Amino acid sequence: MAFEGLAERLQSTIKKITGKGKVSEQDIKEMSREIRLALLEADVNFKVVKDLINRIKERAVGQEVMESLTPGQQVIKIVRDELTELMGGENSKIAVADRPPTIIMMVGLQGAGKTTTTGKLANLLRKNYNRKPMLVACDVYRPAAIKQLETLGSQLDMPVFSLGTEANPVDIAKQAIEKAKEDHHDYVIIDTAGRLHVDTELMTELGEIKKIANPDEIFLVVDAMTGQDAVNVAESFNDQLDISGVVLTKLDGDTRGGAALSIKAVTDKPIKFAGMGEKLDQLEPFHPERMASRILGMGDVLSLIEKAQTNVDEKQAKALEEKMRSMSFTFDDFLEQMDQVKQMGPLDELLGMLPGAGKMKGLKNAQIDEKQLAQVEAIAKSMTKKERQEPGIINASRKKRIAKGSGTTVSQVNRLLKQFDEMKKMMKQMTNMQKGKKGKGGGF
Ligand code: GDP
Repeated sequence: MAFEGLAERLQSTIKKITGKGKVSEQDIKEMSREIRLALLEADVNFKVVKDLINRIKERAVGQEVMESLTPGQQVIKIVRDELTELMGGENSKIAVADRPPTIIMMVGLQGAGKTTTTGKLANLLRKNYNRKPMLVACDVYRPAAIKQLETLGSQLDMPVFSLGTEANPVDIAKQAIEKAKEDHHDYVIIDTAGRLHVDTELMTELGEIKKIANPDEIFLVVDAMTGQDAVNVAESFNDQLDISGVVLTKLDGDTRGGAALSIKAVTDKPIKFAGMGEKLDQLEPFHPERMASRILGMGDVLSLIEKAQTNVDEKQAKALEEKMRSMSFTFDDFLEQMDQVKQMGPLDELLGMLPGAGKMKGLKNAQIDEKQLAQVEAIAKSMTKKERQEPGIINASRKKRIAKGSGTTVSQVNRLLKQFDEMKKMMKQMTNMQKGKKGKGGGF
């Protein structure tokens, strides 16, 4: 699961301060020190860490916390706000050209996931925004690259423009754009060549393609798992090409989060998308605020809901959203959702978005314990209708009966009840924090 290591450390640090009615300067100092260590260990750029910690300290010892009635909560809100800001604040949108087609140029080193991301992005543009993209194969040095893009194109049933390996990439880009205009494509996504390292020859070629294609977006694809190397690569590409945004791939395998937390601060270019797996539908818009919530164990209910909306019946998803907001979510809804969630894809990814999920046993190292999930389901199913609607009435004898009925133990029943309760509390907190925050316009 993304950021698991970092999330665990930060959560245990802030837990110490959450419930406190009074927070001293010493508490803040101690917490800042631990956050600093956690971030450095997560491979976040040291200067970025230093600035961040200074800001957190400055705000946390200021009036906004000391004079508040819930200082512990205030401190967490500050950490969350600062992490959000660090990753770029609002989710940034994809450009839409005044006159189509909108041109997106994909750049990056070999192996970062550029070609796969080209396919994923085209898929997302079509699926979420009803666009009609055309893919362009400009990597003429690696014959397999063209083949790979063509395979993706046929999987997606989308056209791929290619002139083989003999043509010049600049000519390919030029002719592709003409063809896209003729065929009324509204997006052109150019997959360019990558190398093992940043080199002048590559940059010169990319610069020439940029000149001829005049792209609306230049997306640099970097591998999150390479940590500070990814940040250095981003700096070089940005210096040479003035990129417009970053796509961070393999976030599904990145337990540390160093690249995600440093790139915006170092390059001043936003992370626009995150790759969450190898499949063509595993690309997500990058939402700094939701990411910060996930890292701090507040879950990411909004992304979960969006996933439900694209994958499952929209009406049901809306009803779920309503229930979560109005706090009337019951074990019946929980069971119904479990069925739907099973259809929505990798369970570890989905559960990772739930508040407090990081603490659930079985989620460690992205390994979902299917048996445990079956037990959870059995427990909920062994409750009576009334118990599912009002878990508050479940007393000791009811617990015994439920445990017996589900083939589990009373302590397992207790654990689930507690988790359910925590989840509802977290949802309430999230909803309160979300209030009044709306996305900016312009693009998607
Ligand atoms: P390119 O050389 O930059 O074009 O890289 P490719 O698109 O060929 O990808 C390299 C490898 O990374 C392939 O095995 C992809 O399946 C894998 N990959 C790409 N994006 C992701 C991602 O978000 N998560 C995971 N787990 N693997 C990815």
